[in-house]
Amino acid sequence: MVAPAVEAPVVIGLDVGGTKILSGLVDREGNVLEEHEIPSPETSEEGVLAALDAAVEALLDERVAAIGYGIPANLERGTGRILNSVNLPLDDVDLVSRSRERFGLPVGVENDASAAALAEWRRGAGRGAGNLVMLTLGTGVGGGIVLDGRLFRGWAELGHIVVQQGGEECTCGGRGHLEVLASGHAGDRVARELFGPDADAHMLIEQARAGDDAARAALARIGESLGVAVGSLVNIFDPELIVVGGGFGAAAGEFVLKASREAACREAVPPACAGVRIVAAELGPEAGLVGAGLVAFEALDGIR
Ligand SMILES: [Zn+2]
Repeated sequence: MVAPAVEAPVVIGLDVGGTKILSGLVDREGNVLEEHEIPSPETSEEGVLAALDAAVEALLDERVAAIGYGIPANLERGTGRILNSVNLPLDDVDLVSRSRERFGLPVGVENDASAAALAEWRRGAGRGAGNLVMLTLGTGVGGGIVLDGRLFRGWAELGHIVVQQGGEECTCGGRGHLEVLASGHAGDRVARELFGPDADAHMLIEQARAGDDAARAALARIGESLGVAVGSLVNIFDPELIVVGGGFGAAAGEFVLKASREAACREAVPPACAGVRIVAAELGPEAGLVGAGLVAFEALDGIR
């Protein structure tokens, strides 16, 4: 007699951003089987939680074995409790317990940039690496760390590394942080200086592609700031790989990465620099969703 086929479990991943919530069914290999997108309600905590519940319910069926969230927030190490979020009205929320009780499934919550790092490590540019650091250059700058073959589940505010003492004020109130110098906003600011008040980072990159020397030099300076931060990260973690993603990072590509390699090698203590590679992320905007799915599988497997 032939045993009935057991369907492989899938999970629901939610990549929760300040402007949209991406949700999807994800399999153990990180393939996205079905995907939805809704705008993020910005009004209240109850509004955000209701939208997250609706996003889960829209995908919930008997195959779903766990739920994973990637949230732009600081989390309490060990429990995954949301302490606060920059982009969303979420303060001191135990989303893990709340969703576990509501849906009766294992639940994982991770910082969105850490979830993206998990995705790039398992499924993207970081496959096979034992130690890597990912930096996402988007509107802001986020990051995640894989150490000794495990995602580091603690604080990883890599966008707020000081690159320039006493530099321009950061969104967090500090000065001269990587986020001020190497985010999409930094690209917008430089573009306005070069090309007038209507220019933005997108145009800056277009001009660089078209061969404009000033645009290329400006992106190289951004890359240098990135590289200075990478040099410090190399000095702490000695990773094999630095993966650079995010919307701005992906679009700027080698215009930023080339200069970052030179600066990183200047700042990193030899011989650490010789072994490290700085590469572009591979998963693009889907990294957050894939990562949230992998966070769900870690919850299912009891990893945290
Ligand atoms: Zn900062």
